[in-house]
Amino acid sequence: MPDTATRPLGIFGGTFDPVHFGHLRLAEEAHEALGLTAICWVPAGQPPHRASPRIAPRHRLAMVRLAVAGNPHFRVAACEMERAEPSYTVTTLSRLRREQGPRQPLVLLMGADAFTGLASWYCWQEIFGLAHLAVLHRPGYPLLEERLPEPLAREFVQRRCAGPADLALAPAGAILPLPMTQLDISATHIRSLLSRGASPRYLLPDEVLDYIRRHQLYRNQPNP
Ligand code: ATP
Repeated sequence: MPDTATRPLGIFGGTFDPVHFGHLRLAEEAHEALGLTAICWVPAGQPPHRASPRIAPRHRLAMVRLAVAGNPHFRVAACEMERAEPSYTVTTLSRLRREQGPRQPLVLLMGADAFTGLASWYCWQEIFGLAHLAVLHRPGYPLLEERLPEPLAREFVQRRCAGPADLALAPAGAILPLPMTQLDISATHIRSLLSRGASPRYLLPDEVLDYIRRHQLYRNQPNP
């Protein structure tokens, strides 16, 4: 375990539309396995690389706040929600880098599905100059070099590091594949259940489900 001075800070972005136990378990296991000082959850305002979320950003933010409440290692940053323009991960990381200084290790957490699509993100190669990447295994998305598009496969091979301790040795630039408890939960499936009036209970926290019901979210919506 790295000492406190160099313990990396985790950053976890997503649409969280809605937040579920796959997200929470990812963050909890990454926190423990990587010895992170904390995890900053960053709900995306208007993600440029995927279909826009269907519900108002304030609802997604409120649900993330409810889900992480009570975990002293988790905090929520609303920065991407406050911007009118599309939110880019590279912009958020640049801001965090300025705040945290040049030496603080930063680790961007993502699932294997998100990593596979990384080469379509805005200025994606700049991300490696700003943070490490921890790529969490996800059911249905094997993390294999031969499944990655060429420029990303090259970065993966060159930057892959041996273990969590390596992330404390530099502020940015490494990629660490990380096993986690495999939970085949997705927001898409939860939205689909809600839109046809079925129960998503036990796939997400009760507090979040109560919020969804109270605000009548995701009802009768087409779910691509
Ligand atoms: P959707 O179904 O709407 O695409 P999602 O369930 O994938 O949503 P996101 O908010 O898009 O949720 O995901 C945020 C991050 O969490 C991404 O990096 C994604 O890979 C990761 N993630 C989401 N669900 C899981 C899961 N069950 N296991 C591992 N990683 C996950």
